[in-house]
Order: sequence, then C-alpha cells, then structure tokens
Amino acid sequence: MPEALVRRGTYDYSALRPVIFEMMDALGQGRIKENRRVLIKPNLLSPATPAKAVTTHPLVLKGVVEYVLDKKACPVISDSPAIGSFDRVLREGGYREALKDLDVVLKPFSVSAKTDIGRPFGAVELAEAALKADVVVNCAKLKTHSQMLLTLGVKNMFGCVIGLKKSEWHLRSGVDRETFARLLVQIHNRIAPAVTLIDGILALEGHGPGKGGTPKPLGILVGSREALWADAAVCRLLGLSPDRLPTLAAARRLDLSFVPVRLLGDDIGKISLRLPELAPLSFGPRRFQGLIRRHLVQRPVVDPVRCRQCGECVAICPAKAVTPDEKAVSFDYDPCIRCYCCIEICPHGALHAAETLPGKLLRRVMKYWGM
Ligand code: SF4
Ligand code: SF4
Repeated sequence: MPEALVRRGTYDYSALRPVIFEMMDALGQGRIKENRRVLIKPNLLSPATPAKAVTTHPLVLKGVVEYVLDKKACPVISDSPAIGSFDRVLREGGYREALKDLDVVLKPFSVSAKTDIGRPFGAVELAEAALKADVVVNCAKLKTHSQMLLTLGVKNMFGCVIGLKKSEWHLRSGVDRETFARLLVQIHNRIAPAVTLIDGILALEGHGPGKGGTPKPLGILVGSREALWADAAVCRLLGLSPDRLPTLAAARRLDLSFVPVRLLGDDIGKISLRLPELAPLSFGPRRFQGLIRRHLVQRPVVDPVRCRQCGECVAICPAKAVTPDEKAVSFDYDPCIRCYCCIEICPHGALHAAETLPGKLLRRVMKYWGM
C-alpha cells in the first residue's frame, strides 16, 4: 500500500536534524551506505533567499548531507537552475554558508545522456550524474505552480533536464497539460529517486513557483520512498483530489498506483494553501504560440510501409487532424495539437515524432551556445 511519512518540522537546526535522520532511516531502505554515490537533487529554481520559499531550504539539505555522511556514503548536490547560475543560487540561497564545513560536492548538472523514457517521448537527454548515481535523494519544495498547480516530488525531477533543454522539452511537449504532466512522470520514473523529501516547513502559495508566490508556513516535511506517494500525501493533506494535480492524473492514466496513500508519522490534520488559477502551458508570447507549435514542435509522421490503414489514429485524434489516404494516413499540422495520442495508439509502430527543419535549426543553435 502506498505510504508517506509526515512530520512536523522547523528550521531550528537542532530540532530539524533528528527529524531528517529519522525520516531518512525510515525511507532509505538501507540503500544509503558506505561508499555509495548519493546524488541529492534539491529544487534550486533561481537565486532566492530561503525566506522566499522558492527553493529547498539549505538546512534541509544540510540535514540530508549529514545523514549521508553519517552512513559513510559520498554526497553530491546537483541541479540545473532555470534562472541564474548554479553558483549564484548557492550563494544567494545560503547553501554555501549552511554546507561550508561538510564534505559534500556541489556541482551543477553539466553532461546529459540520452535515455529512453518510453513512448511517446522516446529518448530524452537527462543529467548523466542523476542517471549514474547509486542513489538519488529527491529534496523537493512544497510550492504552487501556475501551470501544474503544485511543484512537488515528481516535478522536481524535471531539473534533471539541463539548462535550455528544459525549454526545448516545453516546446516539444508543453502543448497541453496532460502531455507535459506525462513527460514529468516518465522522467521521474527513469531517474527513480530512492527517497523523496518535500520541504513544506515554509511553503509557497498563490502564484508560484517563483517569487510571485507568497511564503506560507506549514511546518511540515513529507517523505516517501515513492515521489508519487509523497505528492499524493500532500494532496490528501490539502483535501485536494489527486486528479486535480496533472502529474498524478497522468500517473493514473499510466496505471501507476498512489492511492489510497497511508499517512504515517505526526497527525497534523488538514493544511491549507491558496492555489493558483492555472495558466496556459504554451511556450512563448500568445500571438506566436500557433506558429511555434506548427513550426518548432515535433510532429507526427507516418511510415507508409508499416501503416496497415487500420484507422486507429484517425479515430483517436482529438483535433481531427488525421485522415486516411491512398497508401497510409495524412496529417493536417495546423489543427494538430501535438498530443501524440496517434503515435501512442498505432498498433503497428507506423508513427513517430519527427523534428521540423526550424526545430532542428533551433536545437543546433542551442547546442552551439552550450544550452
Ligand atoms: S495528429 Fe491528432 S492525435 Fe496525432 S498528435 Fe496531432 S492532434 Fe494528436
Ligand atoms: S494507427 Fe498506425 S497503422 Fe493504423 S492507420 Fe494509423 S498509422 Fe496506419
């Protein structure tokens, strides 16, 4: 049965440290041990002081690092901030100060490796350090997100997509919330963190995930050995149906189980958080969104040799963008919303997503500039 551990917490380090040790003991399944390389993946969205509640609190990371060192394992903290350099985030976020006496490596994700996260996305470039670590500890922040409602454990793994590749994946998959949520779930599943710890001691409500949100003290830490379970636990504490959280809805469609989640630890009752109005997910200025989708986002194409003209893709397409033709099927890319349902359903593997020429050029330019 899915389980999550909920503990009361404060940023008074003498009180916080034993709580984190106890949670890590309960959740770590004995996987953090001597000489293991433990990759700690916080939420380091942007340079911000801990009082802004935008990033995982430095003292939560300190507790996790001390736990890893206590087990004689080798901790590394890495992330790829969406805004600002890794070094600036460490400095302004108080991480350098909090971790200064500890034997921990701090380095940004820099090298990607292509890895198959499953259909319909196929190979995605993820941080090699996260893929190769012996153990990944996911140290997320409990905060609102104007596009995905909440940023919790599953979404934190999107930081393993390095730099502007994040934008590229937003371009490719961010045409609707369901597709993007599914991308997040499949990236999370590929990294498969052993422990997820969500810092909700000072959470963020309103128009998160950045500084537009408002810090809200909740005084909780939520942990689980499955990020989906931790996220479901937060929903339960908020009295929120899991189907309202796009990542959990996507996980349900993938037949992943996360409810009913059993809450262990402190009985804290209900928590409340002002949730944002969901904003459109499309990338770029509104008047260019159609153009971006048509010209930059990967589009479904058919292999006429494989197509058996079964009509499944025609039937499932929500935009009525697929029509049968003489040899196979053809696509009208103007109404196509790039949901990739057709690729998913084709029983003969006759469809795949292909880059457009402008999309390819954009990727090369990004690569040239090291993005
Ligand atoms: S053709 Fe239809 S099913 Fe296929 S990606 Fe476009 S909108 Fe989705
Ligand atoms: S689902 Fe596949 S095989 Fe069937 S018509 Fe579409 S492309 Fe052809």
